[in-house]
Amino acid sequence: MSFHFYNSKSGKKEPFLPKDPNRVKIYSCGPTVYNFAHIGNIRSFLFVDILRRALRSEGYILDQSMNITDIDDKIINASIEKKISIEEITAPWTKAFFEDLESLNIQKLEHYPKATESINDMVDLVHRLQANGLVYEKDGSLYYSIQKFKGYGELSKIDVGGMKSGVRNDADEYEKDDVRDFVLWKNQKSEEEKAWDTDLGKGRPGWHLECSAMIRKVYGSGVDIHTGGIDLLFPHHENEHAQSEGAFPDEEFVTTWLHCEHLLVEGEKMSKSKGNFFTLRDILEKGYDKKQIRYLLISSHYRSKLNFSLAKLEEAKQALDRIQTTLFRILESTGYVYETFETPDVQNVKAKISNTKIRSALTDFENGFCDDLNLPKSLGSMFEFIKEINQSYDKNLWNGNDHSELIYYFQFVDSLLGVLSFEKETPAFSSDEENEINGLIEERALAKKNKNFARADEIRNILTSRGILLLDTKEGITQWKKVQ
Ligand code: AMP
Ligand code: ZN
Repeated sequence: MSFHFYNSKSGKKEPFLPKDPNRVKIYSCGPTVYNFAHIGNIRSFLFVDILRRALRSEGYILDQSMNITDIDDKIINASIEKKISIEEITAPWTKAFFEDLESLNIQKLEHYPKATESINDMVDLVHRLQANGLVYEKDGSLYYSIQKFKGYGELSKIDVGGMKSGVRNDADEYEKDDVRDFVLWKNQKSEEEKAWDTDLGKGRPGWHLECSAMIRKVYGSGVDIHTGGIDLLFPHHENEHAQSEGAFPDEEFVTTWLHCEHLLVEGEKMSKSKGNFFTLRDILEKGYDKKQIRYLLISSHYRSKLNFSLAKLEEAKQALDRIQTTLFRILESTGYVYETFETPDVQNVKAKISNTKIRSALTDFENGFCDDLNLPKSLGSMFEFIKEINQSYDKNLWNGNDHSELIYYFQFVDSLLGVLSFEKETPAFSSDEENEINGLIEERALAKKNKNFARADEIRNILTSRGILLLDTKEGITQWKKVQ
């Protein structure tokens, strides 16, 4: 099935025609490693995961990268403030980033280039820009002269009418109404500032230069798809585009630009600077499950804003339970014996499905995500089918190979969603143990009512030591769950 993507550059949905289906080149802007990623950042990483899973489930072979931004103003400032090296600042956050990816079942990509390991490539790129007359120097720093690049503004559709010639911006991040020449190489200002001694002078790269250089380093060319959060469209991606096509004017830098919308909290963008953020760990500590977090963050369309709330996490759990209950019903009917298909082999299940209803449900699911990764459309068709599956089970209408073919359908679905369980679930506690736990929770509620907080705390501690997490809801009810 063929894909269509909404390309930010053309402002249109276009058919996806990679130059080589056996090596689709995809680059995504990754984390700036100076803190835990918040779940807004994670939404953009999950979007990359869905893009990967979708293309692989349709048979494309990918060569995919996500960079690690380990040089940036915020990192340098933190290293000066804490009097430690930038490596000491970034190493724990880089580790935490990979742990978060693993927790959320995000597939590993082929490359994770780091800015600190790509300095030579950045220097080479600046030399090319110099040779093409696009660079000037001021106080030891090097700047890109945006007026000399004809296509500046084409990607983000920024109004370049008011842009002032020769007015510079040294910051890595700035606003849309501040269109200026941007810095390629920053001269070292003080001894404590981390710097690289290169033939561009002693200094460090601007943030935008990093991605252009890493793409060149990994691919030796441009890419089929470049992704990032919508906030990166300007100035970051506009500047990447100006650098890469300024350095290699005969080559197209990116064919398809995809931008993921923001995760909001009470209507505002979730961001570290606003302080309105949750990390993945914050939410796991509240007792929510990884799968429900993953499901919530992937189930709305990547080009729609998503307003995050804990209530939405509950809804995600209900939706997941509905899918899982049906899947267990099917698995039960086969005694959990079935053939397993994983990506990329999962395409083979299509040929194995002979039941026309199941086959057409699978095609509907595919149609959704092939249309600009419209997962809500895929999920809508899946929930309709789940209704039908259950009705047919109630009436004993499935027979023969149908059960196995239904499992194939869900294997295909899960090659995208990455949240389902195909294993028999063994309860964590026997029913006697559950009764005992519920009894202790009741006793704790009574102790709290009688202001016997010492006993209430004691009960919580007993339960915690058995791996049981208590969740006191606003309605005064206490829920509990087993944690790993
Ligand atoms: P950073 O770690 O700040 O460099 O950001 C990593 C990625 O997260 C980038 O692609 C950003 O555009 C994206 N991002 C930042 N905030 C949000 C948000 N609230 N919702 C979705 N994506 C975001
Ligand atoms: Zn980037």
